[in-house]
Amino acid sequence: MTTYPCYGRIDGPIVMIGFGSIGRGTLPLIERHFEYDPHRVTVVDPAQTDRTFLAQRGIGHVQTAITPDNYREVLGALFERGRGFCVNLSVDTSSLDIMKFCREMGVPYIDTVVEPWAGYYFETTDNAQRTNYALREMVRAEKRANPGGTTAVSCCGANPGMVSWFVKEALLVLARDLGDPVAPPETREGWARLMQSLGVKGVHIAERDTQKSVTHKPIGTFVNTWSVEGFVAEGFQPAELGWGTHETWFPENGHRHETGCQAGIWIERPGAITRVHSWCPTPGPQYGFLVTHNEAISISDYFTLGEGAAPSYRPTCHYAYHPCDDAVLSLHETFGSGTIQADQKILDENEIVDGIDELGVLLYGHAKNALWFGSRLSIQETRALAPFQNATGLQVSSAVLAGMVWALENPEAGIVETDEMDHARCLEVQRPYLGPVEAHYTDWTPLTNRWSQFAEDIDESDPWQFRNVLAS
Ligand code: NAD
Repeated sequence: MTTYPCYGRIDGPIVMIGFGSIGRGTLPLIERHFEYDPHRVTVVDPAQTDRTFLAQRGIGHVQTAITPDNYREVLGALFERGRGFCVNLSVDTSSLDIMKFCREMGVPYIDTVVEPWAGYYFETTDNAQRTNYALREMVRAEKRANPGGTTAVSCCGANPGMVSWFVKEALLVLARDLGDPVAPPETREGWARLMQSLGVKGVHIAERDTQKSVTHKPIGTFVNTWSVEGFVAEGFQPAELGWGTHETWFPENGHRHETGCQAGIWIERPGAITRVHSWCPTPGPQYGFLVTHNEAISISDYFTLGEGAAPSYRPTCHYAYHPCDDAVLSLHETFGSGTIQADQKILDENEIVDGIDELGVLLYGHAKNALWFGSRLSIQETRALAPFQNATGLQVSSAVLAGMVWALENPEAGIVETDEMDHARCLEVQRPYLGPVEAHYTDWTPLTNRWSQFAEDIDESDPWQFRNVLAS
């Protein structure tokens, strides 16, 4: 029988908000790696899909949607002051409000995204307000206003989350391979100096999901390997990226922010139809979608030297996401038809017949050109490692596990993003669930293999300008 390390005891109630694809995958990891009273776990989720599953395991189910009007009452009835854990894996609930309430109650908290209350993504008319920059700034403002106190880990999934730990590990690998190995820096500024000294101009969060089932997606159904609701919402947000100091060009439809850290810009166009040239080990060069993500801003911000609009160093950072083929087709249909499909489906571990989720960070612009560092987790390995999830899910749920372990070991760290956590400890916990974690160098640049038949607005003097990365 396999034995699993126990990372500590959680006294008091464990409250899981949302029990969708990620919640279902996280539960068995909590069961494996923590000591706790199994009768003190409660799921809060309006869906009844998993009622029997939860009842069979003796897990409480409050079948309610958390709203701005009821969250204090519903969660207050479940929490115990100074004990337990709140694991928020839902859509349509405000991460910030719930995090604040948890800290008020002294209950450790974790989520995987800065989620707003229902309606925010589609009903807010000002696009600048619909950015992840704006959502993140609200959490950063709360951190500044109330430093320290009960730990609340913000955005600790695969991405945002794990990829921030990959960036640090990749920097150490790159330093070693450039012939100048270094010990892990101990401060934020130390990490930023390391990235600058290695000549890194920017980072793609470069992902290729090749998971597939035997049946093709029917017309009228949106198929994905994780939350369809979550993906559609972020895909309709404006494209967004951390904006590096090496950039000499600025997109015509781009906007800067006047307030906050000023590490990011946004583009007047939905991320899910904004393509970028990128690279992953399996396909080599590929298109990815410039879907907005918290880590694009947080990584650029974390590795900044200097401040505000005119720092001395800042890397460009953005997502370059090639979701599973059925999700690409689904997006094509959504944007072509102008409507979101009524039927939505998350491919589960039983339907997926093959494929991997290849999720890593591509550090570019340095003396070795580009380094991809990441997890290449297959569906077959996933099935052997943990139940109730596909490869995408396991990369997320194992990051949640690592974040919970870190929070228990650092109970008074206040509000933190994954960039601010001990990356080595977190990866130590997470790595057994990631399949092959590999480093790959490539001589590919965004100017490789461009079609020469049509004129493009490119800058040949520096292949790694965002102008060249953005597909025309
Ligand atoms: P899902 O759509 O499968 O599940 C979401 C669950 O939330 C559903 O069970 C739904 O019933 C529940 N829910 C909806 N409204 C609710 C409310 N008001 N109160 C409580 N529960 C509510 O989504 P998923 O794939 O499990 O993803 C969960 C969250 O994790 C999403 O916010 C998603 O964006 C995020 N996520 C993050 C990463 C990452 O790497 N950081 C990756 C995947 C998903």
